[in-house]
Amino acid sequence: MRPSPLRADVKPVSLIERKLLHLGLKDPQDFVVHLPIRYEDETRIVPIVSLRAGQTAQVEGQVVRSEVQFRPRRQLFALIEDGTGELALRWLNFYPSQHKQLAVGKRVRVRGDVRAGFSGCEMVHPKVTTAGGDLPNALTPVYPTTNGLMQSTLRRAIDQALNEADLSDTLPPEICARYELVPFAQAIRVLHHPPPDVSYSDLIEHGHPAWRRIKFDELLAQQLSLAAARAARLKQRAHPLAGNGGLVAALLRQLPFALTAAQERVVAEIRHDLSQSFPMHRLLQGDVGSGKTVVAALAAAQAIASGSQVAIMAPTEILAEQHFQKLAAWLEPLGVEIVWLTGSINAKARRQVAEAMASGQAQLIIGTQALIQDKVVFAHLDLVVLDEQHRFGVGQRLQLSRKGEAGSDALIPHQLSMSATPIPRTLAMTFFADLDVSVIDELPPGRSPVLTKLVADTRRDEVMSRVVDEIRLGRQAYWVCPLVEESEVLQLQTAVDTHARLVQALPDLRVGLVHGRLKSADKACVMQDFRDGRIDVLVATTVIEVGVDIPNASLMVIEHAERFGLAQLHQLRGRIGRGTVQSVCVLMYQAPLSQIARQRLRAMYETADGFEIARRDLEQRGPGEFLGVRQSGLELLRFASLETDARIVLQAQDAAREMRADFPAQAQAHLARWMRGKQDFLRT
Ligand code: ADP
Ligand code: MG
Repeated sequence: MRPSPLRADVKPVSLIERKLLHLGLKDPQDFVVHLPIRYEDETRIVPIVSLRAGQTAQVEGQVVRSEVQFRPRRQLFALIEDGTGELALRWLNFYPSQHKQLAVGKRVRVRGDVRAGFSGCEMVHPKVTTAGGDLPNALTPVYPTTNGLMQSTLRRAIDQALNEADLSDTLPPEICARYELVPFAQAIRVLHHPPPDVSYSDLIEHGHPAWRRIKFDELLAQQLSLAAARAARLKQRAHPLAGNGGLVAALLRQLPFALTAAQERVVAEIRHDLSQSFPMHRLLQGDVGSGKTVVAALAAAQAIASGSQVAIMAPTEILAEQHFQKLAAWLEPLGVEIVWLTGSINAKARRQVAEAMASGQAQLIIGTQALIQDKVVFAHLDLVVLDEQHRFGVGQRLQLSRKGEAGSDALIPHQLSMSATPIPRTLAMTFFADLDVSVIDELPPGRSPVLTKLVADTRRDEVMSRVVDEIRLGRQAYWVCPLVEESEVLQLQTAVDTHARLVQALPDLRVGLVHGRLKSADKACVMQDFRDGRIDVLVATTVIEVGVDIPNASLMVIEHAERFGLAQLHQLRGRIGRGTVQSVCVLMYQAPLSQIARQRLRAMYETADGFEIARRDLEQRGPGEFLGVRQSGLELLRFASLETDARIVLQAQDAAREMRADFPAQAQAHLARWMRGKQDFLRT
């Protein structure tokens, strides 16, 4: 290895710089918009008599007692008084120097959280300085920080940046005037150093005009970048896949059912997008069981009829296999070449599949993440479909699409993402990607809603006999094992134990088991047995959470339902209610329930509507977690909140349109200020 040449312009990065970088702070612009999460009021000294438990306060007084006590444990104890009252101070860990600082007779300034003590108020581990120093004339900001980076360091760095950075306004005066926005520089200065007369609750709850300006700026930047991403996409080129109508029509004739009106509508939207010469970027939302697979099949048929290859990627092997079976049954009779590729097929089969894909002989390729491995090569991939797209990371979504860009003609594949997790409207409007959304808002006819029951696990016996009754009627049941998130081994053990217990308790029934550690061939075998009715009760882990479609299964028992997330419960429950008979979902729980768990189970009991579930889930988890973007390390919004700032979202949308049309230079400057470091993501 050659030594890297020394370069004078590259300074070594100090520990502090590294910590700052960790917070995304590099250039003055970054520091300027690193805004406080709260403030401390060090501008005032208050009389001890006015202290109330729960507040943070600063007092001055004279030390009247100071000693190391040993009961209930070793601690430094001091008592100060200021003429209005006495205040006790305690330290459980302390240095000898602190003891000296608190010698009887000294006058000290003390700052800390007030709590109720044995006799009157006390502070534990307060900050102590000598009394009588200058008081600051602005509230002291407290910034989001990272382990080992002190507030004082951060404050100094930010104050320095405030002097260096360009704080000029990126908004034209007419826009500021129309939306009653204070100037950027003013907003920034107020938020970093609020004068003491500012309403503290306005600052904290982001209601102050300075915050309104910041939130507007943030949302505007988001809207501008969405619009820019969209404009860029319209300039990209893709194969127009108009099809010839023949294959699609043949597939429709072949189906054992007629499309619902909602399916017809989304199929038309996709048909139109595919025939354009720029890439489609569409999200298909439809509740569990609404029939998204057939929509994907119709899109695939249109692309294949245009001479293209199509890839469908599913998050689990079970789902990929199911798609393969279903689509093969529909399309192979029409002469379409279908292959499937997962991590576990053997080397020989894999070679054959790879050849068929690379030569273009395979027209439809169905698989798992195995599709995005480096070695995998397509001949002319023009449409990618991601089923259960929320289960894939941003990077994975991008990788599949890149598979189609390999050729020299730089054509981008069309992309269809499918999800049962509906993104609420406000979220969709500010979602960090340029997506068109199609919605299937209707279930196929003849479904009766699933009946959901909450049952304490002390009534397990009743649940068992319920299972027996259901099987006697010729139906089938899922028994979902409790989630053990901490350990995969424990999870597996739980599944095996649950299976053994059920086998014993239900001697007349055929009980099967499927979990993630089974070999794929065995997994496939169990699923096939269940599908063909050779298994009555399928004990399963969450491997069956998404996509599995076995209409004869009409009962689902979920053990320890309180351990599952709301979206997960909804997905699981979506495995039943797919036939025409009344289905029942039993959520077995173990008391006592936490507040959150109670809310979740109540939501499941009260509604079966995916949109409503999503709304509540969003409420409980927040947008980052909800969309699964947190794992990508990207915050959606730092300052604005979609729940409370819906009005600003709309204003920002209008302003974005106007700025792009009439003030392109300012729009650019605005993006540069707010979107630093995020540009990469926008390209996806
Ligand atoms: P999801 O949207 O959850 O992916 P699927 O595509 O698995 O739903 O469809 C659920 C079930 O409904 C499947 O058995 C499918 O064949 C059936 N189905 C889809 N569309 C219709 C329809 N228009 N009429 C009747 N059954 C349908
Ligand atoms: Mg599905």
